[in-house]
Amino acid sequence: MEQFLILCRQVIGAEHVITNEFDMLPFVTDWRQRATGKALAVLKPGSTNEVAELVNLCGQFSISIVPQGGNTGLVLGSIPDQSGKAVILSLRRLNRIREIDIANNTMTVEAGCLLAQVQEEAQHAERLYPLSLASEGSCTIGGNLSTNAGGTAVLRYGNARELCLGVEVVTASGDIWDGLRGLRKDNTGYDLRDLFIGAEGTLGIITAAVIKLFPLPKSQLTAFAALANPEAAISLLALAQEYCGATLTGFELMSDFCMQLVRKHFPQLPQVFSNAYPQYVLIELSSHDTAERGSEQMEKLFAIAMDRDIVLDMVVANSLAQSQSLWQLRENISSAQAAEGKNIKHDISIPTSHIAVFISETDALLKQAYPDCRMVTFGHLGDGNLHYNVSPPANIKDTDFILNQKEINAIVHDSVHHFNGSISAEHGLGALKKEEILRYKSPIEIQLMRSIKNALDPNQLMNPGKVI
Ligand SMILES: Cc1cc2nc3c(=O)[nH]c(=O)nc-3n(C[C@H](O)[C@H](O)[C@H](O)COP(=O)(O)OP(=O)(O)OC[C@H]3O[C@@H](n4cnc5c(N)ncnc54)[C@H](O)[C@@H]3O)c2cc1C
Repeated sequence: MEQFLILCRQVIGAEHVITNEFDMLPFVTDWRQRATGKALAVLKPGSTNEVAELVNLCGQFSISIVPQGGNTGLVLGSIPDQSGKAVILSLRRLNRIREIDIANNTMTVEAGCLLAQVQEEAQHAERLYPLSLASEGSCTIGGNLSTNAGGTAVLRYGNARELCLGVEVVTASGDIWDGLRGLRKDNTGYDLRDLFIGAEGTLGIITAAVIKLFPLPKSQLTAFAALANPEAAISLLALAQEYCGATLTGFELMSDFCMQLVRKHFPQLPQVFSNAYPQYVLIELSSHDTAERGSEQMEKLFAIAMDRDIVLDMVVANSLAQSQSLWQLRENISSAQAAEGKNIKHDISIPTSHIAVFISETDALLKQAYPDCRMVTFGHLGDGNLHYNVSPPANIKDTDFILNQKEINAIVHDSVHHFNGSISAEHGLGALKKEEILRYKSPIEIQLMRSIKNALDPNQLMNPGKVI
């Protein structure tokens, strides 16, 4: 392997080939620090041509490649296994904004650009790039596309796939495919772009993308509502869609237990209501009209919702600071949960019409099997996407409870399947759910996925052990 590393150093410079175990640690350890793999080296190319040369070298030496962006993925997709035979190919040095086309409302960016950097560049150009994740300060556009990331604005703008018009890819054979087309219509055969989006690095390496921009909204309005149950949240969502139309940007559900955890671990955040209620919803409207128009819509929505007893109490933020603190209540649920101890996480989606019954039936199944387990249920209700997490009963050690993970996953995922849902709504499969998915996809779907993998990566060098 020394010859391989010498050639890598010739291609990208010795300073961009990391082989020291200590320096590789952040690259081989996953974000939640659940797993640490081993790598032959971390390679940090600085251009698409260098990526292609490295992929060619890997092909010659039969070395597998784990592409990596910000390493914020949650399904163990961006770290290598224990063999120490793979290289991590970090895209972080490909971080240039290549072009902003205001008239076409597009931006061409390299894969290693941070999401937050892209959002800021768009804002400087008086445009919006609406993808929004709590990890936006660390995750990259290449990672967002490879996981088809979702986040809090999918309801209005769609997920990463819907925000992308073209990609540049280094294929598993080391060729460069320039698919950087800024076209909103292009029916010229199979959609290769969509194959690479959501492929989690198993089919090729995304090196750049043309992403969609939107006019900046003139005003944003955030409200927090208290409700009796998830059924009321579904009714409120339908009302919000009816009365607010395209201004409805975010609709997030969180249970009282989520808020209890946030209050415990982030006491500096506001207590919105003096009473506790079973469920809460955070609503965001973004208007291209005047700020008054947004307020009128919100007022009308809540007047009707109160009148129909859908909403028990509500607060509308009257300043940017208040809006941000309401969002922080939502965005700190994961951290509050982590501070409380280990729990068993699920990232699921269900047709919105069935979400309430899914929650009550699955909660009941879990409580039957694990009395007093505590549900941390929250998420992007507007997209039918819940983070449906199971915390141990208060008197049981988290490390003991985690031993039930397989059985708990089976209860939750079987229920998801029963409602025709997905066991991975926005995080992908990675290594974590690769086996689990075999229980739910039909043999023909698995066979088609394998055929695509074999056609695009016949030597199985691209992110082995992930997805399929
Ligand atoms: C606090 C927190 C909040 C989060 N919130 C959300 C959320 O709301 N919605 C959501 O969808 N996700 C969320 N995530 C998950 C994660 O941030 C996203 O999956 C993100 O898109 C990953 O980007 P990354 O650059 O970190 O990719 P990485 O973690 O580095 O990689 C993810 C996968 O993509 C592959 N990959 C990375 N770059 C490339 C490339 N250029 N070409 C080919 N393959 C590549 C990797 O091999 C891996 O399989 C969250 C994570 C954290 C830590």
